[in-house]
Amino acid sequence: MTTPLTALELNELVAGLNKVARNLWWCWDQEAQDLFYKLSPRGWQNMFHNPVAVLREVSEYELRVHLQEPGFAEKVRAVLKDFNNYLNDKSTWAHKNAPKLHENPVAYFSAEFGFHESLPISAGGLGILAGDHAKSASDLGLGFVGVGLFYREGYFQQAIDSNNWQTEFYNPVDPHNIPLEPLLDSKGDRVICNVEIGMTSVDFQVWRVNVGRCPVYLLDTNLPQNEALYRDLTTRVYGGDSATRIMQEILLGIGGVRLLRKLGIAPSTFHMNEGHAAFLTLELIREKIALGKTAAEAQTLTKQECLFTTHTPVEAGHDRFTPDLMNYALQRYLTLLPLPFNDILGLGRVTPANAAEPFCMTVLALKLSRAANGVSELHGQVSRHMWQSLYPGVEESKVPIGHITNGIHLLGWMKGSVRQFWRAKITNNNNGESKMFRERFGADWASALNHADFWAKMTDPAFVSDEELWALRYKVRRELIEFARRKLMIQSQRVTPGDYIRFDQLLNPDALTIGFARRFATYKRAPLIFQQFENIVKLVRDQKRPVQFIFAGKAHPRDNDGKRFIQQIIHLSKHSELQGSLVFLENYDVHVARQMVAGCDIWLNNPRRPLEASGTSGMKASCHGCLGFSILDGWWREGYDGTNGFGISGDSHPDNVEEQDRVDSANLYQTLTEQIVPMFFNRDANGIPREWLTRVRRSMATLVPQFTTDRMVKEYTNKYYLTK
Ligand SMILES: *Cc1c(COP(=O)(O)O)cnc(C)c1O
Repeated sequence: MTTPLTALELNELVAGLNKVARNLWWCWDQEAQDLFYKLSPRGWQNMFHNPVAVLREVSEYELRVHLQEPGFAEKVRAVLKDFNNYLNDKSTWAHKNAPKLHENPVAYFSAEFGFHESLPISAGGLGILAGDHAKSASDLGLGFVGVGLFYREGYFQQAIDSNNWQTEFYNPVDPHNIPLEPLLDSKGDRVICNVEIGMTSVDFQVWRVNVGRCPVYLLDTNLPQNEALYRDLTTRVYGGDSATRIMQEILLGIGGVRLLRKLGIAPSTFHMNEGHAAFLTLELIREKIALGKTAAEAQTLTKQECLFTTHTPVEAGHDRFTPDLMNYALQRYLTLLPLPFNDILGLGRVTPANAAEPFCMTVLALKLSRAANGVSELHGQVSRHMWQSLYPGVEESKVPIGHITNGIHLLGWMKGSVRQFWRAKITNNNNGESKMFRERFGADWASALNHADFWAKMTDPAFVSDEELWALRYKVRRELIEFARRKLMIQSQRVTPGDYIRFDQLLNPDALTIGFARRFATYKRAPLIFQQFENIVKLVRDQKRPVQFIFAGKAHPRDNDGKRFIQQIIHLSKHSELQGSLVFLENYDVHVARQMVAGCDIWLNNPRRPLEASGTSGMKASCHGCLGFSILDGWWREGYDGTNGFGISGDSHPDNVEEQDRVDSANLYQTLTEQIVPMFFNRDANGIPREWLTRVRRSMATLVPQFTTDRMVKEYTNKYYLTK
């Protein structure tokens, strides 16, 4: 019936697939992912859902044979059409609202970018936020370029040994096998730049990650012409000691500006995502002095170009370097920057003349930015308090640090099965509302998901019924449990080969499933809930109303206290009373996160307030029908309204941390037993928890549209990027 494709048509489709594979747009396009999945289902599963690796795995012959299957070629064509429409769309939000940024884009500097599990170059929330920022900048059509580092060994992979102790190992990634490409000049040669580090001039190459319409450039010093010390500089995320750290930061800040100049990019704003990139301010000052400005003028002009986002009130999160280390690492660079060394040190000190004060990257960033912000309302307040001493004579409430609350890239986080559910609601339904969304958003049904109007419909049982919603909850909970069982089987076989556990008896698809996954920084208090051990055992053993827990997370390699928390939780998971109802999943990453935020019923978060700054994992839960249960810290203090999830303790906290732990754990347990468990198991004759689902609906309607990077990037644009 159908005529075979011509060689020319085949070549086009092959080229198109290769182009799609190297653009992270597929991270938030289910149909594109399905193509690569179909080419090699096992390869897709085993190689971190990586289209570039799948295309390498599948031979050219095999690919061409697949493309001759009529149905498949059609699907490829449809995806290529969507992809090209996306890239060429001239009617985006930014075309209308921020056209001048196309000429002079925002340059967004971040030491980590978390895009996807196939690109493991992020340590946690900060990187995920940067990745989501870039994805939404692309969706909005914003003039935006990212600058980061390419870590060959990325962040560590976690394995738990037989003592329940976290061990770290590193998988070198082959840059040719992941979704990025070398940055080439017009002649097809690699772009090479250099930067002065220590006594040397260090060369670096660049990898370009295509994030939809936006490029993100990752700098990499792993070149044969560099000394070994510098070749290895970009091996690991936050690897090595403070000397490695400062040198990585010189590369990021100063090297990043050099790269942009080489590419002829003239940013209107340099946005520093956390203090790691703050050396870029020195390079901007140097450029201006070289053009004849005085040091004072150069600083004033630089300040007008820079924006700074601070991300944590935790002290260790603010890089501080001794004057000796500064002198060592910037030695050669300082010969180019005609400022007295003491003046430079002063830029990183609260009290410039205080020789005992180390150089702080946050202080440098604050002093040389036209605006600065924290990442939630409360974090804004906390930051104003924390840095008030930088603004003598200014009242705390007037300290110039504002806030923009974080968000998530909704489409990128939404699990496939849940996406299908919403898709069917829009495209296959015959009720009036569905029709309205179809008419309003046309073929691009997914864009409806970024609209508050769509989520407002969630409180309407005529649009989505309790029965459907509950069936969806069962589906994703089962998917999570099966994912967890498979993962636990692999984990246990490594630790104790031959020791077969009955994996079908691990976890219960009917149980109230409570998830906790994040970095195991001690302030996040992972084991807090087990302070009430006897009570938790009672909850877990209740046959009629069973509760279960799924934990995951990595501790920083040098954080033994965090590792002890992991050890404690795994130890408990082997306790006879909890076995099968408490599990720890190894190697938390974006993929594990997506399974967990979707499948759990409750997303638990109990940081020591106010150290959370924002937190984002809970935002990923709402669109899947998982309810937040959190301390009123970071975003939850703004998002929680008493009807759309559950709170722990109130909008204040004791200063004494032991007292705080006691109060919070008692409150947590009380809410869990008096509200959450009874509500979850309060079923009608058909087994539906109506009251629970009312909360789920409220959570979708109120939280999903608000806590997205779509909203966040628009806010950055209106409040900061366009107000130079
Ligand atoms: C979302 C996410 C985080 C951040 O979670 P928090 O709640 O902010 O701690 C960290 N790691 C991964 C892999 C994530 O997906």
